[in-house]
Amino acid sequence: MQLQQKFDAIIIGGSYAGLSAAMALGRSLRKVLIIDSGKPCNEQTPHSHNFLTRDGETPAHLAAIAKAQVLVYPSITYLNDTAINAQQTKTGFKIDTLTQSFESKKLILATGVKDIFPSIKGFAECWGISVLHCPYCHGYEVRSQSTGIIANDEMGYEFIKLISNWTEDLTLFTNGPVELDDLSKQKLALKNIAIIDKEIEELVHHNGLVNSITFKDGTQQKIEAIYARCAMQQNTAIAADLNCDYTPEGYITVTSFQQTTVPGIYAVGDCTTMMRSVASAVATGAIAGATLNRELVNEEFECL
Ligand SMILES: Cc1cc2nc3c(=O)[nH]c(=O)nc-3n(C[C@H](O)[C@H](O)[C@H](O)COP(=O)(O)OP(=O)(O)OC[C@H]3O[C@@H](n4cnc5c(N)ncnc54)[C@H](O)[C@@H]3O)c2cc1C
Repeated sequence: MQLQQKFDAIIIGGSYAGLSAAMALGRSLRKVLIIDSGKPCNEQTPHSHNFLTRDGETPAHLAAIAKAQVLVYPSITYLNDTAINAQQTKTGFKIDTLTQSFESKKLILATGVKDIFPSIKGFAECWGISVLHCPYCHGYEVRSQSTGIIANDEMGYEFIKLISNWTEDLTLFTNGPVELDDLSKQKLALKNIAIIDKEIEELVHHNGLVNSITFKDGTQQKIEAIYARCAMQQNTAIAADLNCDYTPEGYITVTSFQQTTVPGIYAVGDCTTMMRSVASAVATGAIAGATLNRELVNEEFECL
């Protein structure tokens, strides 16, 4: 498909955050191109929770409804492709995909992040099904179950403290030497939370539903649910290529209006924050869409 090449805005990433930005821009009569490579971070999770009006939907259905509603606006084009390169031009931005090049006055990055899994057999297969990242998304479904937290140090302590809201049947798996101070260890002991420091070999599961952990010493422990916080990396280096700043944690730096440190470039959703949720992705997209449109209105209106 050969598309018209010039747009008011290009949105790279057409999942919840990008589609939300597109909705605001389409309703502002803006000519928009959404480029999406079709790999949202939550695609493996069977049900998405904690988003008003759509609690419990499959992630794909949620995205399909959003896409259908956005594409009602005739000035919006959705392209299944991957943006591989971006550069600034005199009038805005030039984006190269695997197949074509496009130009726009403004740019929105809605590219999400990639979770980096620990090298534990079965972890990837259970991710989003019985190995969970967020209690607000999935904690209710596994409440009161026998639950493990794969984490260590004070971050692990804070994580297990949070999860104690949903279940008292908790074990901390540090997957190696314990890095907790004595006070934290004592507090966990007082709550009957065991700390297991054995290295993990495998999560034994059936279709992603974990039933036990096998340790490298050959022993096993039954478990029904696991929480883990993975390392993450940006899905694309486009923000870096365009000289956008990042936070120390590796997220694209944005203002409360989702503007990056480079004028004309906005970033929304997971690529900007560790507070990952569909609701927050949608909210940041809506803010960016409205702010970007206002920027264009100002430029057009004040241009004499
Ligand atoms: C396993 C799991 C389960 C979750 N469950 C829930 C839940 O129950 N409830 C909830 O509220 N939240 C949940 N979340 C969080 C939620 O899924 C994310 O916060 C949300 O998907 C973020 O939306 P996004 O648009 O920023 O990024 P994503 O949804 O990850 O989408 C990013 C999009 O950008 C595209 N992209 C990336 N790079 C390029 C490129 N170079 N060119 C073109 N396209 C590109 C990708 O293909 C993808 O489609 C879950 C997350 C995970 C990992």
